[in-house]
Amino acid sequence: MPGLNLQILIAAVLGVLLGWLTGSLPEASGLREGVLYASSLVGSVFIGLLKMVLVPLVFTSIAVGVANLQAHHQVHRVWLSALIYFSATTAAAMLVALVAANLWRPGAGLSLELFSQAMADFEARQLTLAEFFLHFFANLFQNPFAALAQGSILAVVVFALFMGVALVTGGGRYQHLQKLLQEFLDLLLRIVAAIMRLAPLGILALLIKLVAEQDVTILSAVAGFVVLVFATTLFHGVVVLPGILYLTTGKSPLWFWRGAREAIITGFATSSSSATLPISLRCAEDNLKVRRNIAGFVLPLGATMNMDGTALYEAAAALFIANLVGIELSLAQQAVVFFTAMIASTGAPGIPSAGMVTMVMVLQAVGLPAEAIAILLPIDRLLDTVRTAVNVEGDLVGSVVVQRYAGDE
Ligand code: ASP
Repeated sequence: MPGLNLQILIAAVLGVLLGWLTGSLPEASGLREGVLYASSLVGSVFIGLLKMVLVPLVFTSIAVGVANLQAHHQVHRVWLSALIYFSATTAAAMLVALVAANLWRPGAGLSLELFSQAMADFEARQLTLAEFFLHFFANLFQNPFAALAQGSILAVVVFALFMGVALVTGGGRYQHLQKLLQEFLDLLLRIVAAIMRLAPLGILALLIKLVAEQDVTILSAVAGFVVLVFATTLFHGVVVLPGILYLTTGKSPLWFWRGAREAIITGFATSSSSATLPISLRCAEDNLKVRRNIAGFVLPLGATMNMDGTALYEAAAALFIANLVGIELSLAQQAVVFFTAMIASTGAPGIPSAGMVTMVMVLQAVGLPAEAIAILLPIDRLLDTVRTAVNVEGDLVGSVVVQRYAGDE
């Protein structure tokens, strides 16, 4: 039996192949229906298991991580280096997108008529920058029990940060509680190890369903844009991020890929950085040798705030839509796209198609029609795979970089 790492890789390749075969079966065939049903069932059980451990894991890993870092006066350094890393890599991703979209001008030759029906049928939910901020800050502080129950990850993160700091400022008075949280985290990671054994099966099922249900007609109409997004996202994931890792820590990209691929492939198959988080935490700790305090702090934060793939996509998509509707965006307008996409990717939760919701804000900021989202929706599930994989990769690279700069005591 090959190791788990290899099993996951095989499952990913097999999933795409079987998905393609299933997709080519006739619409009404019983076999196709059966395969799709089984894949939905297995895929949703796998995602359900990951989500089951997610919220308690985020809470304990951040509370314990912050408490331990604070006790060793490391928390400021970790904060600062994580923040610098998050913003620098997100900015790099968007630069890649803006340069490539200016060079290749996706959508320039396409007729808007092709999509006019879809746009007319679609009622876009408006989201201005001001509304976004209001919503973001209003949801930051919540009753922790409501946040835990509803899975509002950002609010859970915030409450856990307070808990972690308070545990330490109590000066040893809450040792029992801290120990209890530590043991709880240990226990949760043990459960994650068990869930990970199912990862090959879950990934296989998710990919079969994803590939089989792709609508090829729509895809070919916007093929130029799809290729541009794939190519630039891959460039960021294969060249920029490993380059940053090598320059800052001297670690080889191959070493990183071997340690991180379980999480990256899970991100690809689930399209959710949050659902992938339990696996990312294990990869960081077991394979990349990032200390638990640092990984437990950087990864949950990164999964909700640091999304290079999403930022890249939003910037590229804004330029694509501008070309499509025949509007030439000036340099100043492209700067607006840059900043709103930065905010939009930070505010997007790590769930499938979250980027689509915050995308509206980017479009509106430069006066593009929000209804144009209708053009992107049918291809979103496909593009979400690579951007989530790169989002997850960015967080894992971040944990190694932060450990290098802020980890030593
Ligand atoms: N699916 C992405 C993630 O979870 C977010 C997005 O839609 O861009 O990282």
